[in-house]
Amino acid sequence: MTGGCACGRVRFTANIENFDAYLCHCRMCQRATGSVSIAFKGVKLTDVEWAGEPDWYESSPIAERPYCARCGTSLGFRFKRDSENMDLTVASFDDPSRFVPKHHFGAESIHRAWLNTEGLKEIRTDEHQKLVDKWVEATGSFPG
Ligand SMILES: [Zn+2]
Repeated sequence: MTGGCACGRVRFTANIENFDAYLCHCRMCQRATGSVSIAFKGVKLTDVEWAGEPDWYESSPIAERPYCARCGTSLGFRFKRDSENMDLTVASFDDPSRFVPKHHFGAESIHRAWLNTEGLKEIRTDEHQKLVDKWVEATGSFPG
C-alpha cells in the first residue's frame, strides 16, 4: 500500500500483511504528533520503501520518527537499534479506511474523554458553508 505526507515530497510503499493497527497514547507520541493519540500500523523495516526520503527526528535516546520537514506530517516511529519493525501513521496511507484498531498502547496516558466519541454531533466538511465558500473563492471548487 502507498502513502505519504500532506505535500507529497515524502512517499512510501509498504507491504501490509493484515489491517491490524493500534492507537498509541504515550506522552512522547502525543508530543510528537500534537494529538491525544496516534494511530499506527506496525510493519517490517524491510517491507517499507521510501520514495523521497523522510526527515528523521530523534525523539528520544532510543527512537526516531520520520516526518516531512516541508509540510510537517508525522509519518511514523522506529527504534534506533535492535528492532526489525517500525510503525507508519495510519492516516498517512493513501487509503487508511481498511485499518482496524486492535489494542491501545501507552495506556498510562490515555485521555479517557477522547476514547469513546460515538454519539457526539457529527458535522461534515461540506456542511460547513464558510469552509466551502473559502475553498470555492480560492480555487473554484471544494475538494470534499
Ligand atoms: Zn511534505
